[in-house]
Amino acid sequence: MTATLSEGALRRAICDAGRVLYERGLIGPTDGNFSARLGERYLLCTPSATHKGELRAEQLVKLTLDGRVVGDGKPSSELKMHLAIYKLRPEVKTIVHAHPPCAVGLTVAGVSLEVPVVPEILFALGAVPNVPYSSPTTSDVPEAIAPILRRCDAFMMTRHGSVVLSDSLKDGVMKTEIIEHTAKITLAAKIAGNASPLPSGEVQKLLKLANEARMEAVSPARPASDTIVPSPGAAPRAASSSSSDEVVAAIAKQVIERLRQG
Ligand SMILES: [Zn+2]
Repeated sequence: MTATLSEGALRRAICDAGRVLYERGLIGPTDGNFSARLGERYLLCTPSATHKGELRAEQLVKLTLDGRVVGDGKPSSELKMHLAIYKLRPEVKTIVHAHPPCAVGLTVAGVSLEVPVVPEILFALGAVPNVPYSSPTTSDVPEAIAPILRRCDAFMMTRHGSVVLSDSLKDGVMKTEIIEHTAKITLAAKIAGNASPLPSGEVQKLLKLANEARMEAVSPARPASDTIVPSPGAAPRAASSSSSDEVVAAIAKQVIERLRQG
């Protein structure tokens, strides 16, 4: 697990995440920000206004959980959002915020990936809703995302970017790629003329399958998440089957409602 990585390894994992996201076109040079819990008391966060594809380990900023900088550096301007997420979701180990262009473009057009046209995103991430626009870097951002934080591990900030909560940087980057890949398919369907959503029965079925896979993934035999292909969405919250079932039921209800609304 990321929480067990040494500080040096965790710093390298954050730098790797920035390089991969930049090289794959999921962030512009100074876009995005990433953070990770470092043990029980600290966080590591990307620095403000820095090329995220060329990060060096020593540039990362170490902070307490209430945002006090330990040592040098100026943390990301979106630190308020990261702190709010870690406070509300103690099981979340890493946060990856990127600007995937097709996915962001769809939010500008009012298209939500929460109403899926293909199954994989539901299976991998669960529902990925659009959060209403708020001015980046302000306290408006934590306020805007608060209503969906307990039920989602990934969401789109309208006209801004993606946010993936996870238990490793690798998983966060992979899920960001899934979001953008799904956005491209959705865009292609819209250009071709008919981006019809999955039937509601299929949505329910996929969410049930995803939940079953999560329960297997969090079994005691599960290997460390920084060395394997990561688990499906919302895995960190699946420690209790009853709470996980409630989460899935809430997601299914909301997705089906959105499908009904067309
Ligand atoms: Zn951003």
